[in-house]
Amino acid sequence: MKRIIILTTGGTIAMTHTDTAGGAVPMLDGADFLQAIPPDLADVRVEEFCNLPSAHFTLDHLWNLARRVAALVARDDVDGVVITHGTDTLEESAYLCDLTIDTRKPIVFTGAMRVASDAGYDGIANLIAAIRVAACDDARNKGVLVVFNDEIHAARDVTKTHTTALETFLSPEWGPLGRVYADRIIFARQPTSREFIPTTRLEPNVHLLKIAVGMSEGLLEYLVDVVGARGVVLETLGGGRVPPWWLPTIERAIKNGTTIVITSRAGAGRTVDRYGYAGAYRDLARLGCRFADGLNGPKARVRLMVTLGAGVEF
Ligand code: ASP
Repeated sequence: MKRIIILTTGGTIAMTHTDTAGGAVPMLDGADFLQAIPPDLADVRVEEFCNLPSAHFTLDHLWNLARRVAALVARDDVDGVVITHGTDTLEESAYLCDLTIDTRKPIVFTGAMRVASDAGYDGIANLIAAIRVAACDDARNKGVLVVFNDEIHAARDVTKTHTTALETFLSPEWGPLGRVYADRIIFARQPTSREFIPTTRLEPNVHLLKIAVGMSEGLLEYLVDVVGARGVVLETLGGGRVPPWWLPTIERAIKNGTTIVITSRAGAGRTVDRYGYAGAYRDLARLGCRFADGLNGPKARVRLMVTLGAGVEF
């Protein structure tokens, strides 16, 4: 039997409604999960990392979680790791592990959209599916995976798309890698791209701004002049366009040593050099902006924290 560790971090999968809190709060622990898992799935052990809503995660939590997962997959007596996680920031933790852990062993993130006291709690179904994927030979060497609603997604591609739907995790550009069926697990495609960036730290002074029509560049000025940002990700319009009045501040930021990374607020797709008007992609390229190649804003920020931490170019 495959030896799988469940690393618990909290999130809705670990929550239940309590009258004292007046809402759902983290309650379930590793033992609760263990007793719900069929014994013939795998040789499963549980380790508790924390029990937090993912909105309470600091960058230290994020970093220490990735390092703990790295230590677990390095062990000879571990064949795969499943991480239970709040859905709100799951994609950032999963992508950080994908970028910074060099392993062929399956690392699978999962969670739930309904709390344990809700009718139709999806937590145990997702956990069992995630364990089955982590124990599956075909899941080796696929990078970090996210298993939700019987779909298998690549950490680089997946994003939370809906506030409450069970099918919230989608990979908008390329679709899932595979699917969990009752009788077998099928991978229909390989991950589109995978990379490993070794680093001993995350650069914390990295920020994310979304641009909207007619918006002033004042927040970027503040980040550069007052906060001293080392890096800023701009979720720009369409395939990489900004209002032209942003260009002088972007130029000054780059001259001052702030890395500016361009991604799109569109929700899917790469940034592309297509237009000749002021503020379009080629102006941003000329000023020295970096481009996030299809990563969404939160994940481009994770990659920028990693690359700045490692002292390598984005
Ligand atoms: N509030 C939860 C979180 O910790 C949401 C969830 O897990 O679905 O992210």
